[in-house]
Amino acid sequence: MTEETLICEYCDAAMQEMEAAFSYLGRSFRHKVMRCPVCGLVYIPEELARGRMREVEMALEDK
Ligand SMILES: [Zn+2]
Repeated sequence: MTEETLICEYCDAAMQEMEAAFSYLGRSFRHKVMRCPVCGLVYIPEELARGRMREVEMALEDK
């Protein structure tokens, strides 16, 4: 089990985990994200971004 500490590239501050609500294509979902306590920059994990993008692509291909 590895624990990564994300550092904000703008503030050089350690990001903190928080739960955020997202709205995407008319649907809302909650996900824990890392956020900079200084500037509020939210880090979206690549895994999450890719997963959602794939869902969109699949939905588009159906039509
Ligand atoms: Zn920051």
